[in-house]
Amino acid sequence: MASTFTSKVALSGKSVAVNTKTAAAPRASFVCKAETKTTLKTGVVTGDDFLEVLQHARENEYAIPAVNCTMSPVTNACMEAAMKANSPMMIQFSNGGGIYNVGKGIDNADQKAAIAGTVAGALHVRAIADFYKVPIILHTDHCAKKLLPWFDGLLEANEEYFAKHGEPLFTSHMLDLSEEPFEENLDICKEYLARMSKINCFLEMEIGITGGEEDGVDNSDVAPEDLYSKPEEIYDVYKALMPISPNFSVAAAFGNVHGVYKPGNVKLTPEILGNAQKYIKEKEGLDSDKPVYFVFHGGSGSSREEIREAISYGVIKMNIDTDTQWSFWDGVREYVADKHDYLQAQIGNPDGEDKPNKKYYDPRAWMRSAELATIDRLMRAYEDLNAVGACAL
Ligand SMILES: [Zn+2]
Repeated sequence: MASTFTSKVALSGKSVAVNTKTAAAPRASFVCKAETKTTLKTGVVTGDDFLEVLQHARENEYAIPAVNCTMSPVTNACMEAAMKANSPMMIQFSNGGGIYNVGKGIDNADQKAAIAGTVAGALHVRAIADFYKVPIILHTDHCAKKLLPWFDGLLEANEEYFAKHGEPLFTSHMLDLSEEPFEENLDICKEYLARMSKINCFLEMEIGITGGEEDGVDNSDVAPEDLYSKPEEIYDVYKALMPISPNFSVAAAFGNVHGVYKPGNVKLTPEILGNAQKYIKEKEGLDSDKPVYFVFHGGSGSSREEIREAISYGVIKMNIDTDTQWSFWDGVREYVADKHDYLQAQIGNPDGEDKPNKKYYDPRAWMRSAELATIDRLMRAYEDLNAVGACAL
């Protein structure tokens, strides 16, 4: 059951300072109601509570940002942005993010380190998510066939957690078998969805190819026609998975590309998603105009108009990685430029040669600058995704 929370958001009319020293786009400004109520469950949401968030997003035409997290300052910045925007947030870990979370000095034999690091990231979020008073979704990103042992380990962790707490540790997971033959992709997804539905865990699957490069998978030289999914293919996914469980979403290819590149010959074509929705509605004789939950990979560099158009066709989640990698670094870059003369030695700065610099090089000082820059970038994402104040809707 969903419970009602009240959160105070003291952001009315306040705009965030614009950083004039960089060529980057101005920091976001936003307006929120002074007092908001949400009928959505807050803290980590799973199962029916997550389904309620998805339906809420679809009905109100917004999408949830899904941010790749590699360490707790990134995770916390995401949740702080969500609290400020009064909107849901999806925290997602890639396989590489999980490994990083264990420590890069540790060997990842049999994916054991990746499993442990991803679980550790989820437990960190679970321990603190309630403080942020918005729905938090725990998710994992691309899992190709060679990484299935990672996926299996995460499902075991979910099953163990479910046995103790009656819900899975993670809200959902992505399986990306788009590089395999289509039939094999569907068969493996069916098998996993059956297992996941027993513990109320959601599946995100991918068909077609997202261009560009991310986390070691390079699709930057595939044929342009492979970057667009057909309505028939999306309907095949629907027919294969729906009888098992409705708890799935589809990352279809509509000309989306991972990373930020110079404009090329690939054109983002969100109508592809709209055409598929119409096709499935007609074939199945459904009432819903948007029977499929779509997710948007490779949204970096897309215009607000393109993002909003994709949302109008049933996109309920957009991945963000490249742009928050940049913002996190940009915060550090800005800090180092601003405090340069206080960061050259432990003692001695323009205020005196015996003055200590401890408070300037404390990681909490410069890391906070990274967090704040990321929060600003995410506020802009919430605006792009039509999701500012979503919990109050
Ligand atoms: Zn992706």
